[in-house]
Amino acid sequence: MTEPLISIRQLRREYPIGAESITVLKDIDLDIEAGEMIAIIGQSGSGKSTLMNVLGCLDNGWTGEYRLAGRDIARLAPDELAELRREHFGFIFQRYQLLADLDALENVEVPAIYAGARKEARRERAHQLLERLGLGERLTHRPNALSGGQQQRVSVARALINGGEIILADEPTGALDSKSGKELMALLKELNAEGHTIIIVTHDPTVASQADRVVELSDGVIIADRRKDDAAAPVRKAAETIKRIPRWREALDRVGEAFQMALRALSSHRLRTFLTMLGIIIGIASVVSVVALGQGSQQTVLDRISSIGTNTINVMPGTSAADRRRDAIRTLVPADAAAIAAKAYADSVTPQVSSNGQARYRNVSAAAQIQGVGADYFRVNNRSFVEGAAFDETSTGALAQVAVIDTTARDTLFTNGEDAVGQVVLVGNVPLRIIGVVAASTNNFGPQSSSISIWMPYTTAMSRILGQSWLSTITVRIADSADVTEAQAQIQALLEQRHGTVDFSLQNTDTIRETIQSTSQTLTLLISAIAVISLIVGGIGVMNIMLVSVRERTREIGVRMAVGARQGDILQQFLIEAVLVCLIGGTVGVLLSLGIGFGVEKLVSGLSFIYSPTTIIAAFVSSSLIGVLFGFMPARSAARLDPVVALASE
Ligand code: ADP
Ligand code: MG
Repeated sequence: MTEPLISIRQLRREYPIGAESITVLKDIDLDIEAGEMIAIIGQSGSGKSTLMNVLGCLDNGWTGEYRLAGRDIARLAPDELAELRREHFGFIFQRYQLLADLDALENVEVPAIYAGARKEARRERAHQLLERLGLGERLTHRPNALSGGQQQRVSVARALINGGEIILADEPTGALDSKSGKELMALLKELNAEGHTIIIVTHDPTVASQADRVVELSDGVIIADRRKDDAAAPVRKAAETIKRIPRWREALDRVGEAFQMALRALSSHRLRTFLTMLGIIIGIASVVSVVALGQGSQQTVLDRISSIGTNTINVMPGTSAADRRRDAIRTLVPADAAAIAAKAYADSVTPQVSSNGQARYRNVSAAAQIQGVGADYFRVNNRSFVEGAAFDETSTGALAQVAVIDTTARDTLFTNGEDAVGQVVLVGNVPLRIIGVVAASTNNFGPQSSSISIWMPYTTAMSRILGQSWLSTITVRIADSADVTEAQAQIQALLEQRHGTVDFSLQNTDTIRETIQSTSQTLTLLISAIAVISLIVGGIGVMNIMLVSVRERTREIGVRMAVGARQGDILQQFLIEAVLVCLIGGTVGVLLSLGIGFGVEKLVSGLSFIYSPTTIIAAFVSSSLIGVLFGFMPARSAARLDPVVALASE
């Protein structure tokens, strides 16, 4: 006699209950021949389902010996058990256990996906099976649109898709009306006649009576094993070979399927998916916007600096811009400016004093920035005149009461459209005749204020208005032929010699540029750090929801494992889901940020956003990373579920 298909010796299954343990199967011996139709009966709690789970390689917590087609399957790894399940078994459950998100056809296909069948082939086979089971009209119906009997027939088709050499049915008629129950039994008998080995668990005697052999369990022990006398000799089923595709194609196929499953799962919980994404969306949008704004404003400032040119040097009192004594230092005087102006490297030099005050023309009065400057000021700073001209050396020498204003000042003071040039304005109590109007500044680094600007000879400002003898700045424009660094060193030496100490500081546009770059970098870093924290919070949100989702879908995971999914398949599916949530979130975040940038640029002048490809790529990379990082834990806990426990969950 050939070896039985299933051979069990001394099978024992114990469940630990606290410190104790209960023995549910007590040293069972059982042989099942290929092609048999066998019913396992017994009272509720006698261990039928437990035995069934062991037979179907869903459970591996037993002891004893189990040989399947001559192969010892004790202590096989979870993935090897999964392989046995998908290659040899087909499961039919009392509650059908179809996947609610899939239609009939797709449900039937699931085991074939895990077995690596070619897409068209499995589609066609699923179609044929459903057709044969009378469900040709219901291919695209979801389980909740099918009756119990129809759902059970879908699950029979699913059991058959990979061949279904051994069909395990646990109370298959338990949830069916009697007519559907009879139809199902007829179907199972028909399959048995074709050579499928059928093992049915039931407590219904009429169901059991249809089997050729009845094994009765009581309290974990086989108390009877009856064979019908008139049973036909078992038909052995010719082994069906599943057409396999190359391994790499198969792996790729399964990724594709997992991807589609993930999309489906996400779209069937749209609101929840969106809320999960929100953290990622906000995080990515803020990082991308902040970086773009940082780069944009840096660029704007740098452009302004370039418009001044790189060849000016400012001399200011105090050893640095942060020197707290700088207001008290009064040693920077017009003579210093004259000394520098005498040097060959100086193209032009302007001393400068500044203060705030009121400017008045007739009955219009406005806050003004009062600037006392040298005749070269406008040349040094590249200011162009729209009307009139600058004052000259004679005016500065003679403390002339003349002034230049900018277009803002002109528009503020001369409201009746009169010609500004030639008019007299009062600054404080001092009347000044307007001799020129300059275009509004494009390179104003100072705080943008609403006050207007008035320039007059520094001598006039110092003696007639401010009553001071010291300067607040000397600006030197270096001759094109001279080297800026060299000139700076010379000015340093000259002033040091004149003052006898270093109580001044020099600043050129390069140092300003560096300062701006480093401050904006620090700022970007700081705000990015905050944004990264929000991304982490978003990631934790994703993890949290994924954990909930794994719990909610435990039964689905159990079904997938029962039909042959490997742990890796489950891991992959949930990981892809997490990455997909984060990637979609990242995309929406980037788009949102582009929108914000566009909107803000339109609404607020002076702000500009620069989106570099690096930033956007980095956004996508980091959102995928977040998906992998925070999705891994939930995905792994899904993959590690015990199929029996998962199937039993509600
Ligand atoms: P049947 O299918 O014959 O009604 P089962 O095989 O489901 O019975 O269960 C047999 C016994 O094993 C029952 O007493 C049940 O309480 C126990 N049992 C089943 N599964 C577990 C488990 N995971 N942990 C502890 N006890 C269990
Ligand atoms: Mg049971």
